[in-house]
Amino acid sequence: MIGLAVLSGLFVVFCADPVFASPSVTIVIDPGHGGPSEDDDDTNSGCKYHGLEEKNVNLTTALAMYDELTQYGNVNVYITRDVDAEVTLDRRVEFAKEVGADVLISIHYNASAEHNYFGSEIFTSAYGQCYATGHALAEEIMKEWVDEGNTRKDIKTRIGKHGDYYGLIRNGTNTGIPTIILEHGYLDNDRDYQRIKNEDAWREFGIMDATAVARFYGLEKGIVKEEIGPKDEIPVPADPVMSDETAPEGVKLEINEYDSSKGDLEFTLFAYDDESKLMYYGFETGSVDEDTVFPKLELWDGKNGKLRGSFHVPPDYKGKLTAKVYNVYELDSLSNTVDLIPQYEEEEYDEAAGGGDDGDEVHESGTTSVKEKKKTVKEGKTKDSQISKTSKKSKTSGTSKKAKDTGEYEEADEEEDGGWMIGGELPAVETSAIANAIDKNTTSMITDSYTGLLIIALVAAVTLTIAVIIATSLLSERRREQERRKRYRKNRKGRKKDTFDWADYYDKD
Ligand SMILES: [Zn+2]
Repeated sequence: MIGLAVLSGLFVVFCADPVFASPSVTIVIDPGHGGPSEDDDDTNSGCKYHGLEEKNVNLTTALAMYDELTQYGNVNVYITRDVDAEVTLDRRVEFAKEVGADVLISIHYNASAEHNYFGSEIFTSAYGQCYATGHALAEEIMKEWVDEGNTRKDIKTRIGKHGDYYGLIRNGTNTGIPTIILEHGYLDNDRDYQRIKNEDAWREFGIMDATAVARFYGLEKGIVKEEIGPKDEIPVPADPVMSDETAPEGVKLEINEYDSSKGDLEFTLFAYDDESKLMYYGFETGSVDEDTVFPKLELWDGKNGKLRGSFHVPPDYKGKLTAKVYNVYELDSLSNTVDLIPQYEEEEYDEAAGGGDDGDEVHESGTTSVKEKKKTVKEGKTKDSQISKTSKKSKTSGTSKKAKDTGEYEEADEEEDGGWMIGGELPAVETSAIANAIDKNTTSMITDSYTGLLIIALVAAVTLTIAVIIATSLLSERRREQERRKRYRKNRKGRKKDTFDWADYYDKD
């Protein structure tokens, strides 16, 4: 009853021009929530964060919108509450109907369970004309927000058991009043909160909302026009416009570069969603499952396909990394898990693998680890060339097993002066020993025996062949090492600074 009394005292009709009987549009502004907040169980304060109660923030924005919009011609503006009062959802819509609302606009701010979402979103009816008008107006408001630096979390429908999910929108639709819910931003996420934490920002939103509504209906400040909008109505859908109920697909993480000393990595993330836009992505180290919270999310540019970027892990991080991608409906999918190994271990691995690197800096895609792929390269090379370097500790099969079992790669610890085998057939002999043998023992044999000459020639040929192979291998290894270093320097030069700012990155797109 108090609510009714408050309401009836507040509503003022503006700008109805009696002389020209000009066209007018009737806008009802609805500050969400409201009422006593002493008892936490029985309150309708909306979300609470940083000591703020959403109901008060909503009211500030709504009153600013009211003040702004009433300065335009051809518009009647009403507000469902202008104090902290409890008003039921039914009553809000009833009131809108009583004053002949063309549209009902409910003002809100957001929060999420894990405090990781950010961005501005608008909910509209999924049905018929209420969808068409609501969505078109929402686009105009969203445009205003985005132009002022806010993040688009899209315009959405949400259907429940009895039609539109949100009571206010459902009641509005049942009453034939296009109703939209404006979620200006997240009070519990720094990415939004830092911009919307004070009254100036809340009022600014109200002015933006009013400006967008005025533009949509073709209104002008202080001028009563003979013709007004709305403009850009979108087609009335024959069927309800459904929300997306499936998560993003094809989510795949590739690491392009990992500078472990700084913990910098560059990645490519693949994902697509045919029903709605992609919204966020995030990373988590360690073991991850469907319930793992990804506390810090970044903005996906909305487009299907791939996204390249940088990310930081703790310096010298060794272990798993998994990504998660969300669509605007907050449905998410995990990527494959990639194993990161610190650079020094990777270098040792390169050396152990005979500088093995396919020249492609993409270390891994899919579910196998960086080191596992390198191991494959190593084994492949060994087999193909039929040249293997032997040493006391080099046991390829043993190493593979260890790598697989424990995720640890133990360096093969090969020695530069280790023996060489060709095709696995020749005995591993010390070349210097052969040379010594020739020096000491063959002088007399040379004149005595033709066979001796043959043996010497054969031994010399074998020695020469071995020497050439060693030299070639050493040279190519050195060349690979040089190339690797060159690539390193190039990558280091191209690498983004530690102070890399995501916002800058996305503003460019
Ligand atoms: Zn709310």
